[in-house]
Amino acid sequence: MFKALVLEQEDGATRAEVRMLDESSLPNEKVQVAVEYSSLNYKDGLAITGAGKIINQFPMVPGIDLAGTVIHSEDDRFQPGQAVVLTGWGVGERYWGGFAERANLNPDWLVPLPSGLSPREAMVIGTAGLTAMLCVMALEDGGVTPTSGPILVTGASGGVGSVAIALLAQLGYEVVAGTGRPEGEEYLKRLGADSIRLRDEMAAPSRPLEKQLWAGVIDTVGDQVLARALAETRYGGVVAACGLAGGVKLPTTVMPFILRNVRLQGVDSVMCPTTQRIRAWERLQQDLPREQLQAVEAEISLEQLPEYAARILRGEVRGRTLVAL
Ligand code: NDP
Repeated sequence: MFKALVLEQEDGATRAEVRMLDESSLPNEKVQVAVEYSSLNYKDGLAITGAGKIINQFPMVPGIDLAGTVIHSEDDRFQPGQAVVLTGWGVGERYWGGFAERANLNPDWLVPLPSGLSPREAMVIGTAGLTAMLCVMALEDGGVTPTSGPILVTGASGGVGSVAIALLAQLGYEVVAGTGRPEGEEYLKRLGADSIRLRDEMAAPSRPLEKQLWAGVIDTVGDQVLARALAETRYGGVVAACGLAGGVKLPTTVMPFILRNVRLQGVDSVMCPTTQRIRAWERLQQDLPREQLQAVEAEISLEQLPEYAARILRGEVRGRTLVAL
């Protein structure tokens, strides 16, 4: 028997309850993992409260991120005792996820944890940190190096933005943190930002081409902020776009692409191919400063999840919330 947070649908409303389940109730997948840590994401908040149409099949165990140890494997790639991490692939949405002491999983979704990274540390990183690393790798793939010039990170104090700043600073880049919170300047500089740029300036209407400022951009915001960032990117620069915190639109022109050879690279962490994920987790182990791995705001139990799910939707949860199994 093991403990799980189970979602049921009753009269159109979602009900979340911690239950003891029998292992026979787990989905039929080839690898069984003893989950040690999961983490709470905004998407989990939507799923648990039913505020967002994240889940269509019930009963469902939510939790989009998990890390733990293999206890049973019918796949040669994984052995009992091996530490693994999983993010994305629709786990916690279409497939039973990480808010349970046990998870049966498709081996194609799993990444062996690099040595030197514990399951807890992997969950401090989570989907947000993985996405930040994929964005840094997108800049590198486009030929951007620390000598190319400054990098703008938008949505800087968010989960993705803050890890991106720490990674870029560690790698020797000059980092400009784009933020709507001037009071967070000290925090962003401690993370590794050299200077900050305020949201009003970033979101101001832009001409098709502006003064060339950035060798690269990691954008989590979208809309006018992304449009201006493109117009301000230097000749041959790369813009990695992964988010929509400010909106889904992109009111731009072709000018940055056809006159400045700017590359706009989309970044997705959910369906990202496994070889790239393995590379990204290894890079996170190597390049993320150790103090980043201690940055946990709260560590909660399965029983506390419904309360925290409501809080994350109200914007009352800051930093990383780990779920200990
Ligand atoms: P957070 O909510 O932690 O951070 C978003 C940040 O964006 C905020 O901290 C804020 O930064 C800024 N922001 C918020 N609202 C606005 C606004 N209206 N206009 C401009 N800036 C705003 O989110 P995450 O960092 O976890 O995720 C960032 C984005 O990336 C989200 O849109 C998310 O959906 C997406 N995402 C995409 C993934 C992928 O695979 N492509 C994976 C993970 C996330 P500040 O206060 O510094 O201004």
